[in-house]
Amino acid sequence: MRIGIVKERRDHERRVAATPETVKRYKAMGLEPLVERGAGIAAAIGDEAYEGAGARLVDGPEEALACDILLKVQRPTDDETARLRSGQLLIGMLDPYMNREQVEAYAEKGLTAFAMELLPRTTRAQAMDVLSSQANLAGYRAMVEAMAAYSRVLPMMMTAAGTVTPAKVFVIGAGVAGLQAIATAKRMGAVVTATDVRPAAKEEIESLGAKFVGFIPKDAATAGGYARPLTPEEQAEQARIVAAHLESQDIVVTTAQIPGRKAPRIVTAAMVAAMKPGSVILDMAAESGGNVEGSRPGEMVEIGGVRILGARNLPSKLAPAASILYAKNLSNFVQLLVSKDGKLAIPFDDELVKGTLLTHDGKIVHPNFRPAS
Ligand code: NAD
Repeated sequence: MRIGIVKERRDHERRVAATPETVKRYKAMGLEPLVERGAGIAAAIGDEAYEGAGARLVDGPEEALACDILLKVQRPTDDETARLRSGQLLIGMLDPYMNREQVEAYAEKGLTAFAMELLPRTTRAQAMDVLSSQANLAGYRAMVEAMAAYSRVLPMMMTAAGTVTPAKVFVIGAGVAGLQAIATAKRMGAVVTATDVRPAAKEEIESLGAKFVGFIPKDAATAGGYARPLTPEEQAEQARIVAAHLESQDIVVTTAQIPGRKAPRIVTAAMVAAMKPGSVILDMAAESGGNVEGSRPGEMVEIGGVRILGARNLPSKLAPAASILYAKNLSNFVQLLVSKDGKLAIPFDDELVKGTLLTHDGKIVHPNFRPAS
């Protein structure tokens, strides 16, 4: 069975779905890895490294796209989807909630498509959890970019010329990315506060030495461990607390997400207007609707002296590190799908397969995407 890796062709994407290390793992599983020439170069992996690991290099995407298993970072382009054929496995971050028509196209094509973002967040799934591996790096990068846009310093500095006070950093949403943003700001010596709506997040914030600000609504965490949308009353209560806190903050990083929905709007234009000039806000949710009014993905807007940065594919900006972790996640997942002798043996009853399998045998099989009958 051949397993294909192509160069990612979507804008602003520098990551790659396999590394020389995972190519070796696929060989050990009895698979035959094919890598498009140049697939890893934006992630600092040269062709010769793949070749040295045992991959067959191919010119152009065609042959790799035709493999029994196709590994992707982002969902295929329309052009790539058109070239896929019935029975192929497609594995990647397929972003199905935002691209339902493409899910139908996978079914029509007869693809066995797995959306890695849908992986249940269980202990067993941790080694395959692409959301965690990428969000962790994104949270770090978000704080680095916010620091770079901030024209003062983070740590307290006591010098002969006087003392510089430490920056006040506020992180909204303390999931995987938010916790890493908090840890990064703490390492830089900032005074860090954070908020979230899940009770577990409060403890995690405090365990990093940051202070919790906000309130925890009743039953705000779903069974899957995610946050639920807040009621209008809860939103108003949160807005009151956040607005009062923002006025004194220097750097704000927002990470709040609700899976399958538009990101909650937490920082309004009025709150931005009340912040100090020179403050910086980085909206990590800019691509999924934005936590901050006025943020735009990939851009910096300045309103009343407050800089608002809209994040766009932060893991791609750390492509070498992000690819190593992502590729490892995928290889752990592929291991689940092949038998000892390198044959396809998909355990359809496995909760990790059931959780991620979008389409199979010409049908949409995932309960969240099946058409209403
Ligand atoms: P996410 O990206 O879905 O959301 C980011 C954060 O925003 C979350 O902490 C969420 O609670 C918060 N949020 C949502 N709405 C908010 C609002 N209105 N105000 C403030 N904060 C809001 O989250 P994630 O980082 O993917 O983590 C989701 C869950 O998965 C967490 O419970 C995490 O601990 C869990 N998890 C478990 C494992 C595991 O292996 N067991 C691994 C990774 C993550």
